This record gives sequence, structure tokens and C-alpha cells, in this order.
Amino acid sequence: MIRIAIQSKGRLNEESLELLKDCGIEVDNQKRKFLGRAANHPLEVLYLRDDDIPEVVADGSADIGIVGLNEVKERGADVDIIRYLGFGACRLSLAVPKEVRYDGIQWFQGKNIATSYPNILHQYLETNNIQASVRTIMGSVEIAPAAGIADAIFDIVSSGGTLISNGLTETECVMKSEAVLVAGKSLTDEKRTQLRSLLFRIDAVRNSRGKKYILMNIPSDKVSEAIRILPAMRSPTVMPLAASGWSSLHSVVEENTLWDKVEKLKQLGAEGILILQLDKVVE
Ligand code: ATP
Ligand code: MG
Repeated sequence: MIRIAIQSKGRLNEESLELLKDCGIEVDNQKRKFLGRAANHPLEVLYLRDDDIPEVVADGSADIGIVGLNEVKERGADVDIIRYLGFGACRLSLAVPKEVRYDGIQWFQGKNIATSYPNILHQYLETNNIQASVRTIMGSVEIAPAAGIADAIFDIVSSGGTLISNGLTETECVMKSEAVLVAGKSLTDEKRTQLRSLLFRIDAVRNSRGKKYILMNIPSDKVSEAIRILPAMRSPTVMPLAASGWSSLHSVVEENTLWDKVEKLKQLGAEGILILQLDKVVE
């Protein structure tokens, strides 16, 4: 049995559960219990506040966890980062009131900065030889300058909308973050084996993201041109159709180039183009 810690509620909860579900693991989240058990997999799920996840994994109370890289770095937890998971993207940035004449990082010299991430900020200030005073507040950091509590803030930014609505301008991006899968450093061999089998599934799910399966009928003399448009994982599948002179071509295509490629294939004479959802890709 392997135990995973995930956020009980908040921005990472849904996508963490979704990832487990896409891995074929059924987790009951309805009652938001503290500890749940997967119905069809040797996995226990521990629901926690995100702040607590790095330490709980570091001390072995959970074997693995899904948490923002920002929390892992802030806590300085002794865990291994096993995978970057591609959701919960954000950055930790310094921001100043918009009327300030900001002339570079030296501006922060002697200033008062409010943040919920004092350790990451201290490290950044030290690396850049800035003497500033760091004021730790655990919520509503963005109102600190207007409230006269601080000159500037260091906080999580994703779209930047919160900064704008609080009259702030982002000046320095200190780190980029996303959800990561972390693991404790002293897992037993049995748990490592279970982790490997979970990773196999996670990778297959992640590899399929942003990709579509495409198939079409195409005149056989256009197949090589079509293959140039559609390079596949190894090489596209080509099968003869019952009607002579025609082939069926199957491939996998990145979603962001899909429409451009479909248009080109259509111009080549492709017909009956089907685009299908991909659930898992094992490479
Ligand atoms: P908890 O109650 O679990 O302590 P929280 O309020 O500290 O939750 P959330 O706001 O749910 O945390 O954010 C969890 C994580 O989501 C952050 O640590 C960060 O990694 C990521 N995240 C992505 N975008 C944002 C954003 N715009 N604001 C805050 N966090 C974000
Ligand atoms: Mg938190």
C-alpha cells in the first residue's frame, strides 16, 4: 500500500484527483475525509492543506504527494521531486505600487516587503545583495501596500489580474511553479515498486495530453506527402483501402498544430478525416 498526500481543497485538489482518475484509480472524494482508500488500487489518499504536504512526505507520514513547487521550496522539505505535472502553473514575483518609479532590483534596498514566502524571498534578496525587511503575512498579501503595511509584495501571480486590481505592477519574477509529484527519500523496495507502476500510468496519461489521434482516407499517391505533414511517434500507419488507389492513414498529432495540418491534408485530397480523443500514450 502506498500513501499519497493531496490538497484537501483549493486550486490543486480537483486536478490531483483527476490525474488519479485518469490513471484508472477510483478515489472517493465525496465526504472529503481525512484519509481515503482507492477502490481498485493499493493506494491511500491523505487530504491535507498544501502547506503541510512537503513535511508529511519528508517525514514518511505519506510516501508521495502532489503539491506546488513553491511550497516545496518554501518549506525546504527533504523530498525528491519525481515529476512536474503541468497543472497549477504560477510564478512567485515581486510587485510594487504602480505609481512607483521602478528602476531595477536596487529599488528594493531598504524597503519593507510583505509575503507568505519568506524563505524563498530571503534567499533571493541575499543572492542579489539586497537588504530589505521581510514581513510575513499569511493571507491577502496584495493589499499590504495600500494598507500601509509594506512598500512592496512578493506573492503568487498567475494571470496578474489580482495585482492589477490592487494597483500593483509585477517587477521581478523570482521563480516559476507548477504542481509536482514528490516522494520521500526512504521508501521501502515494495513502495518503490508501487510508485514505479503509478508513474507508468501517470506518464501515459501526461503523454496523451495535448495530442489527438487522426485518421483519414487519402489517395495512395499522396501518402508520402501526407507523412511529411504528419510525422508520428515512430511513423504513421498506412493501410490499403478496399477501393484501389486509396489508403487509410493513421497518426498522432499535437493539438496546437491540428487545424493547420488538417487544412493541408484536405488540400492534398484527404477525405473522411476523423479526429479522436487520446486517453493514454505509452512510449
Ligand atoms: P490550503 O488551504 O491547502 O493551504 P492555499 O490557500 O494555501 O490552500 P491555494 O490557493 O489552493 O492554496 O493554492 C494552492 C497552490 O496552487 C499554490 O501553492 C500554487 O502552487 C498553485 N497556484 C496556481 N495558481 C495560483 C494562483 N493564482 N494563486 C494561488 N495559487 C496558485
Ligand atoms: Mg496553503
